[in-house]
Amino acid sequence: MNEIMEEEKTTTKKKINWKRFWFWLIFLIVISLLLIIYIPNRIYSRRKAVLSSCSGNLRNLGIIITNYSTDHKGHYPQNLEVLVEQKYILELPVCPVSGKSYLYYSDGWNSTDFIVSCPNPQEHVGSQGPKSVTRLLYYASGRGVSGGYTPSYVDSFYNLGTIIKIYSMTHGGHYPQHLRVLKDMKYIEEIPTCSKTKKPLIYQINGWDDDDFTIWCPNPEKHNYYGSKSKLKSLYYHKGEGIIEVEK
Ligand SMILES: [Zn+2]
Ligand SMILES: [Zn+2]
Repeated sequence: MNEIMEEEKTTTKKKINWKRFWFWLIFLIVISLLLIIYIPNRIYSRRKAVLSSCSGNLRNLGIIITNYSTDHKGHYPQNLEVLVEQKYILELPVCPVSGKSYLYYSDGWNSTDFIVSCPNPQEHVGSQGPKSVTRLLYYASGRGVSGGYTPSYVDSFYNLGTIIKIYSMTHGGHYPQHLRVLKDMKYIEEIPTCSKTKKPLIYQINGWDDDDFTIWCPNPEKHNYYGSKSKLKSLYYHKGEGIIEVEK
C-alpha cells in the first residue's frame, strides 16, 4: 500500500517538474529575445539623442559666432573663449559624448570663413543604424551643421576644403600632405573627383609647415563659367578665398 502511494507521488512530482521546466524555458527564451531586440535599440536611440545634442551645440555656437561677426563688421572671433569674455555665452559647451571642448578654425582677423567641429565625431553613432559611425560633425560658416561628405560639384570642393581645415585643427595647425591621408583616417571615403571627367582633384601644398593649400580641378575646360557658355581656364579652392573660377 505504502509503496504504491510513494510511486504515485513521484510520478506526479515528475510531471509537475517537466511542466515547470518547459514553462521556464519558454519564458526565458521569450524574455531573452525581447531583450536582444530591445536593449540595442534603446542604446542606439540614446546614443542618437547624444549625437543630436552635439549637433545642437554646434548649431548654437555657429549662430553665436555669426552674431559676433555681425557686431564686429564681419570679423569672426579669434578663438571660442572670446565669446565667453564678451558675454555672448555664459560658458562654452562641450561634446556630450566625451566632455571635450569643441575645435575652432578661423584664419586670422580677416578670415572669410570659420568652422566649429566636434572633437571626436567618430565616437558618435551614425544616423544609419547602430553599426554606423559619424565621420565628421561640424558647423561651417554659411553652411550650417554637416555630418559628412557630399560629392557634388561645388560641394566637393567646399567640403574637401573644410575637411582639410578640420584635419589641421587636430594636427597643430598643419595641413595634410596628401589627400590619401584623409582617406586613411576615414575623413573621406574616396578622393573626390572632377564632376565632369571623374579624374581626382589635385591637391597642392608645399611641405608640412606650409600655411596655405589649394585644390585644383584637373579639367577646368570642361566647366562653364557661372552657367554661361564660356569655359573655365582654371577652377580651384584656395584656403583663404574659397572656390575661384577663372574665365578663359
Ligand atoms: Zn560630439
Ligand atoms: Zn572639374
